[in-house]
Amino acid sequence: MSKTHTPEKREFQAEVSQVLDIVINSLYTDKEIFVRELVSNASDALEKMRHTQLTESDVHQPDLPLEIQIESDAEAKTVTIIDHGLGMTRDELHENIGTIAHSGSKAFVKALEENQQKESALIGQFGVGFYSAFMVADEVTVYSRSWREGEPSLVWKSDGKTGYEIEESEEELDRGCKIVLKLREDCEEFSEEGRVKSILENYSAFVSFPIMIGEDRVNTIEAIWRKKKADVTDEQYNEFYKFSAKAFDEPRYRMHFSSEMPIEINALLFVPTENTELFGMGQMEPGVSLYCKNVLIDDKPEGLLPEWLRFIRGVIDSADIPLNISRESMQDSSLVRKLNRVVTKRFLKFLAGEVKSDAAKYKEFYAKFGRFLKEGIVVDYDHREALTKLLRFESSMTEAGEQTGFEDYLTRAKDGQEKIYYLSGADRASIEAGPYLEALKSRGLEVIYFTDHIDEYLLQHLREFDGKGLVSAASSELELDDDAASEPEGEMLPEADLEALSAYLKEELAESVEDVTAGKRLVSSPAAVLTSDSGMTAQMRQMMQAMNPEEALPGVKVNLEINPRHSLIHQLSGIRESNPELAKLVASQLLDNALLSAGMLDDRANLVNRGFTLMEEAMKKSAE
Ligand code: ADP
Repeated sequence: MSKTHTPEKREFQAEVSQVLDIVINSLYTDKEIFVRELVSNASDALEKMRHTQLTESDVHQPDLPLEIQIESDAEAKTVTIIDHGLGMTRDELHENIGTIAHSGSKAFVKALEENQQKESALIGQFGVGFYSAFMVADEVTVYSRSWREGEPSLVWKSDGKTGYEIEESEEELDRGCKIVLKLREDCEEFSEEGRVKSILENYSAFVSFPIMIGEDRVNTIEAIWRKKKADVTDEQYNEFYKFSAKAFDEPRYRMHFSSEMPIEINALLFVPTENTELFGMGQMEPGVSLYCKNVLIDDKPEGLLPEWLRFIRGVIDSADIPLNISRESMQDSSLVRKLNRVVTKRFLKFLAGEVKSDAAKYKEFYAKFGRFLKEGIVVDYDHREALTKLLRFESSMTEAGEQTGFEDYLTRAKDGQEKIYYLSGADRASIEAGPYLEALKSRGLEVIYFTDHIDEYLLQHLREFDGKGLVSAASSELELDDDAASEPEGEMLPEADLEALSAYLKEELAESVEDVTAGKRLVSSPAAVLTSDSGMTAQMRQMMQAMNPEEALPGVKVNLEINPRHSLIHQLSGIRESNPELAKLVASQLLDNALLSAGMLDDRANLVNRGFTLMEEAMKKSAE
């Protein structure tokens, strides 16, 4: 390879400049986080090196110690972090610390806007940790030599503003990275050994490689997941979470357990406070690492946990996993499948315990992470039942804002009640304003309110709970027991009139009405449309409309139920022959109102204009 000593100059990718701008100009607090970020990168590089050494025979300088050295020089105003990890090639330098491959910076900026005061806390979570060096340094130099034989020794240098340059080093470097930070004037404190040491003491116990300052070792390695719970403090757990997940929030939940059967497991799992998918960051990456007796096998193994548990952070350690297992064979390893099953079950059991022991805390968890549980119900038949028990929703028997679950629903069910009733809608108020609830309410039956827009999708997969079918209260398949209803008010329309009126409406509204029936379910509304379970629900139509706003929706054919005790129905029956014009207007308006309540009215212009005509009629009448 020919040596080129002319530096290769490049500008930073736009996203990098944006992140750097924020880092340099707007982050004033917590400057010390740069130590954690750079040490954590060094530790990652060492972990990968350890694993590479197990599988590759051709490694440059295989005997270098896997450790991290920190040097501070108060005179030169520098702090230096050295590791003998994987190092980087020229391409890798461009790729890793000149660009941001994923949508990290955009999401980072968005999260900053929503989270003003905790700015620096977010930097690590967005895969832009390296750039935190520029919080304290006005020049950063990375000396790097890749682990691959035959690669050159390189020097990457940047002021964090104009761009960066890479040139070949005059002298041969050791494998790994040496990162030299030339400290800014107001950050010179970090060139004092004592200052750096005290920053490291907070969390360095979880770095699984020795951290050396000169001859002194700062940390003792602790695999806290293999310790007994009683021997670990809350603070240690939290620090470990922050270090291993590169997180700055506190964990919302933690589950630490070990088991011998059917497989040896030591697991320490955390649920973060924040769900970053809600920041619009796209899918979270799985964050549970696989260890075998303290040795990292893979930090993001696919298939270790189901995808819908991708929000969990932490460690699963199993002595039964072979050390040199490859990524490919891991995915279809029956051992990994077994781990997956055991840990998932344990976690769901853990959540079920939390529901009971601290419902308020669970409610907060559910607000942020409930979507993942719903995703699990849709895709994962094996855990559907346990997941279904964890669902929370409001109902006709909860106060607004209070939640309940299926198990509680069943404890309140009536004797012999074989169905679970629900209604879906945009929110509690619109469900309660609709015509469907009253029939069930008057029979003392509880109705679940599904108000999340993915619930419709969920309901296609969730057909029953504990052997009891889920039925929509807006469905024509809903069967209700008349005796159970409280006695409704108002006279029934005589049978003959009712038949005639039904036939009239059926003919008049034939375009969108399949059938007209005298309803038993209506109490104070004159009419309602019913959907059949096999047909398309209002929410499904709305989803279609949202996806294809250009396309006309397929026409609906509904069943119209009328309330034979309602005075409007009585009067309509009365004017049907004496004032056919008005009857026609009322019939159409009745249907449109019912469609509107059901969320199925596509053309509102007619409803509005007909409303005006009816107002005029009413006023003419009173003027007479
Ligand atoms: P993240 O670590 O979250 O990916 P960073 O900005 O901290 O984001 O680092 C970007 C990338 O640069 C890392 O993913 C890694 O590939 C590379 N890198 C950083 N520090 C080192 C190091 N000490 N040794 C080898 N590679 C490193």
